[in-house]
Amino acid sequence: MDVTALRRETPGCAHRVHLNNAGAGLLSRRTLETMTAHLELEARIGGYEAATERTRDIEETYALVAELVGGKARDVALFDNATHAWQAAFYSLAFGPGDRILTGRSEYGSNVLAYLQVAQRTGAEVVVVPDDEHGQLDVTALANLIDERTKLVGVSHVPTGGGLVNPAAGIGRVTRSAGVPFLLDATQSVGQFPVDVHAIGCDMLTATGRKFLRGPRGTGFLWVGPRMLDRLEPHVNETAASVWDGKRGFTWREGARRFGTWEMGYAGVLGLGSAVRQALDLGLDAIGERATALGAALRERIDAVPGARTYDLGRERCAIVTAKVDGVAAADVKAELTRHGINVTVTPPEQSLFDTEDRGVHPLVRLSPHYYNTEDELDRAVDVLTGLARRGQPR
Ligand SMILES: *Cc1c(COP(=O)(O)O)cnc(C)c1O
Repeated sequence: MDVTALRRETPGCAHRVHLNNAGAGLLSRRTLETMTAHLELEARIGGYEAATERTRDIEETYALVAELVGGKARDVALFDNATHAWQAAFYSLAFGPGDRILTGRSEYGSNVLAYLQVAQRTGAEVVVVPDDEHGQLDVTALANLIDERTKLVGVSHVPTGGGLVNPAAGIGRVTRSAGVPFLLDATQSVGQFPVDVHAIGCDMLTATGRKFLRGPRGTGFLWVGPRMLDRLEPHVNETAASVWDGKRGFTWREGARRFGTWEMGYAGVLGLGSAVRQALDLGLDAIGERATALGAALRERIDAVPGARTYDLGRERCAIVTAKVDGVAAADVKAELTRHGINVTVTPPEQSLFDTEDRGVHPLVRLSPHYYNTEDELDRAVDVLTGLARRGQPR
């Protein structure tokens, strides 16, 4: 990987040490230009006319997303974010009293809120599968919990607030043999390392464009396995979802497009296509190797600082690093890093309540490098943490 060239093609690298790829990755110049060119075209010739002119590239985005996760273009729907993509799948499942939704301790906050709403509405039950000794979802416990009441297993592959990689393929083996639908929230993993729906064995997968994929904000997608499609009734209907074919009748459209909406921001769709193409060109194996190695190097360096430590769970870890400096609030650590031109975020406790109630460690500072970051940038962040740790411990 030619990191120097990749950095030259990433305008943000000239201005910031960007360690917030779990928030939003930096756009490449090619992706930026793809989007601005389309906005210019819309302004010049009209929005509908611009979309017509770029029909082939718009369609290509579905094929590229499919290739990225190992599926087919007809099984992909595009959305304005990962949350709406996930909701399109989840709210299309039917639940009744006594049905069970199994999830993990690291499930994304919005997903848990949706589970709780549906539980309240239908009398279904939400069951949290315990972690194993590594702090990842316990696959054996999951297998033991699954019974005829289980209508869904919903898991976040990589949580928003930590470096853990859940054993998705192990979960897939269990759900497949039990015949239970498996909805994988792969928002933090897609674009960070290889994610393949068949290797994992999930039935539905969702992700965002803007994080490790380096696509634009306001984009996301859903992949639905062909066998799952007929078991879902799209929770909303509109002209993109179905054909009104009699005064009283309609027919769902082919494939996963039935979950989408007619109106879309095509500059974003084209930008997403550009970002996915770049990830595929670079190779997800190479991307994953470098991102994960930078995460591990950063973790090691922070843990070597007296008065600082990391809090990432799991046997397998990724490029997300969560840390704390003794005696300094996470928000103050973030502010100091910002002062040095280093972008990070803080994990909100209320968005990972299962983990918050279990470990009580949030808020943590979240540093998330990507393949275009350098070891030197990691050192700059660690230097700031070192300075804070010294000041934070006058005792
Ligand atoms: C960011 C995130 C989401 C939500 O993605 P949006 O595109 O903001 O809707 C969902 N799940 C996880 C694990 C995330 O980190």
